[in-house]
Amino acid sequence: MSKDKAYWLAKRTQITLRTQAFINGEFTNSSNGDTYPTINPASGELLVDIAACNEADVNRAVAAARRTFESGVWSKQAPAERKAVIKKLAQLINENLEELALLESLNVGKPVMDALNVDIPGSAACFEWYAEAVDKLYGEVAPTDRNNIAMITREPVGVVAAVIPWNFPLDIAAWKLAPALITGNSVILKPAEQSPLTALRLAELAKEAGIPDGVLNVVTGYGHIVGKALGLHNEVDCLTFTGSTEVGKLFMGYAAQSNMKQVWPETGGKSPNLIFADCDLDAAVEHAAMGIFFNQGEVCSANSRILVESSIKAQFLEKFIAKAQSMKVGDPLASDTQIGALIDSKHAANVRRYIGQALEEGAALLTGGPGDESTATVPPTVLDNVLETMTIAQEEVFGPVAAVMSFDSEEQAIALANNSVYGLAASLWTSNLNRAHRVAARLRAGTVSVNTMDALDFSTPFGGYKQSGFGRDLSLHALDKFTQLKTTWIKLG
Ligand code: NAD
Repeated sequence: MSKDKAYWLAKRTQITLRTQAFINGEFTNSSNGDTYPTINPASGELLVDIAACNEADVNRAVAAARRTFESGVWSKQAPAERKAVIKKLAQLINENLEELALLESLNVGKPVMDALNVDIPGSAACFEWYAEAVDKLYGEVAPTDRNNIAMITREPVGVVAAVIPWNFPLDIAAWKLAPALITGNSVILKPAEQSPLTALRLAELAKEAGIPDGVLNVVTGYGHIVGKALGLHNEVDCLTFTGSTEVGKLFMGYAAQSNMKQVWPETGGKSPNLIFADCDLDAAVEHAAMGIFFNQGEVCSANSRILVESSIKAQFLEKFIAKAQSMKVGDPLASDTQIGALIDSKHAANVRRYIGQALEEGAALLTGGPGDESTATVPPTVLDNVLETMTIAQEEVFGPVAAVMSFDSEEQAIALANNSVYGLAASLWTSNLNRAHRVAARLRAGTVSVNTMDALDFSTPFGGYKQSGFGRDLSLHALDKFTQLKTTWIKLG
């Protein structure tokens, strides 16, 4: 059966949307009964009212997490035992793929086929990857003198809070939860207020997989209440955050005001895409479009600044505009939609404001623009004549808006690329191997993709330089966040 809109609408009648927080293995209302509306951004329809938790609920969740951590019911299990449970969770995510994909699409407006093919299988694979890794990790014995043995081992940090954004809700939850849980921590997950639905379903699946009550809690609600209470809590040992740079800085402050908890910010970006004249232009165009328009441009590492060598700029723009105009914008439940709705009308208005400001500052609109302002959808937009001093070249838009600039030399390209407070990712296109190495080494970004775009794998760390934060998700390096080193000296007689 083809998975067209009718298919998904029929599926919708078969699924239940969870509305309560998940604390100590139970769904629960907020302690004062408060709720807030969760809206489908593509239709404006009210999906459900969700528990708006408060500080008392955070205290309940942290107490449950602390209790289970100290009990050892999860933290002291053998790695192979935790592995079996997390592998089961990965299996359950795959078994519920369509339900989770539909929830994600309804909740955040992304094309359901993207959620089905990318987000949800990616989440399952992330749990699987860390489950497979955990029983292959060894400690160390230090090269001390022969009268001592000094063992260096890793222990779980304890109670971890994970505060995440709305652009890839289940994926980013998995990026945090998989390494945190597999190493024995107890976790409180706070989804973005806009996107709680898959997190709540995940909690239920985690219980079914065998994660003990209290080890994984999901506290729904507003950032300035729930996020802040987690950030300031003295019983939270580690806070892993993905979101804006502005809020990442707040978390560093919360830690300083409370217990000096470890804070790992993974924050915003304004990633450059450098296109040299000696590249494979068709491949560069194709990837440049994906790099900025995929997921409606709501991607932290989106290649939002396109820097093109002047000699090929006209040729590049002709192909790039054609590609942008060919992209299917529309209903996230239609199987051929490539660009769905932005997260909400407030964010759409903000994206439109950035487009307007760019035009006022002297940029030229080549295609796209504000679109139908009664909706939360903005079409793929290309702005030319952008200068590095303009707001559109410096601030993160988090929408399908490409800012095009040109350069005449490698030196100028590198200077333009590095002129940003952010440093999450960068791409570069060239057929010259020497140039590829030379330029990649000088780009101040956590990930540089050469002749590809936003390259990513579970085996490679993902995170930023500068104000894109210093936390790293994915790979074995992510385990550094969720474990602490212990040195045990044994004096031999
Ligand atoms: P956001 O910073 O507004 O919110 C992120 C989380 O922080 C949410 O759960 C929110 O409820 C919470 N929060 C908001 N205000 C808070 C406060 N005062 N105190 C405590 N918590 C608070 O970000 P967003 O709008 O959800 O997501 C978009 C941002 O996320 C973009 O800047 C994007 O670049 C970034 N992002 C980064 C990465 C990465 O890996 N570096 C990945 C995805 C998204």
